[in-house]
Amino acid sequence: MITLEVRRCESLTPGFACVTLGGTGVRDLVPGGADQAVRLFFTREGQRELRMPTASNEAWMVQVMLMAKAARPWVRNLTVRRLRPAEEEIDIEFALHGDSPMSSWVRRARPGDPAGIFDLGSMYRLPGHARGRLLVGDESALPAILSILEADPNPPPTEVFAEVATAADVRPVPAPAGVRVHWLSRDDVGIRPGTLALEAVRQAELPEGPLYAWVAGESRLATGVRRHLVGDRGVPKRDVSFYGYWRLGRSTPG
Ligand SMILES: Cc1cc2nc3c(=O)[nH]c(=O)nc-3n(C[C@H](O)[C@H](O)[C@H](O)COP(=O)(O)OP(=O)(O)OC[C@H]3O[C@@H](n4cnc5c(N)ncnc54)[C@H](O)[C@@H]3O)c2cc1C
Repeated sequence: MITLEVRRCESLTPGFACVTLGGTGVRDLVPGGADQAVRLFFTREGQRELRMPTASNEAWMVQVMLMAKAARPWVRNLTVRRLRPAEEEIDIEFALHGDSPMSSWVRRARPGDPAGIFDLGSMYRLPGHARGRLLVGDESALPAILSILEADPNPPPTEVFAEVATAADVRPVPAPAGVRVHWLSRDDVGIRPGTLALEAVRQAELPEGPLYAWVAGESRLATGVRRHLVGDRGVPKRDVSFYGYWRLGRSTPG
């Protein structure tokens, strides 16, 4: 459990904000892969102090749930967008949506506010035999996709399908030779998040195999892409990393 504080907040696009957290504890975060994630603890509205659990095993959840609700922190999973040990800083990029606990905290976060993290590790593992790569996600997975792209200057041929809420959230992406980025924007409140990316993958001409695929975002997007790749395109299960980052209509427990 690492306690840090907010150093800076920056609006990136209408739907994204970056919060920089800093403190000596950053040195305890071992760099762990391009899509390294953390559990982020932050205060509820009106709370002055952040009460962090102390257990470093799964008992942390019990500790949090046993706290009175008024004293309990919010807990959400986020990607470490950048880690700068020398400056004792990490950046986290948040996809803002409505007045959710996470989005509201980002809007009210100010330098000096407390925030805690612990390491969740990473999922991205490009196997040595891969000759092509597929990266798919909605806005919650965009920070991880950007980090994955930045981490490898000599990637295999790669198709990226990045879905965002509006065209205003499209931004420049590091695209070395062989990387093609397809932006998809819903621009319409009626479309279920993830639908456009899933359909685009179904229609896409994918790179020559063996293919490695990484997919994250709304749960149906993650499972839908995996099912399509394994069932319709013959990609071995072990070569598809997938993660339902969130579930439509369900709030993260806590
Ligand atoms: C390993 C991992 C890494 C992640 N990295 C990031 C990251 O870097 N940046 C990031 O923004 N998110 C990331 N997420 C996703 C984030 O944890 C969830 O979106 C989380 O539910 C947000 O909490 P909340 O307080 O906004 O909403 P919650 O309280 O959990 O949910 C409230 C409502 O909002 C809906 N909702 C939740 N997330 C979204 C969304 N993204 N868009 C639209 N509606 C939503 C829910 O379905 C629910 O109806 C990651 C998740 C995982 C598991």
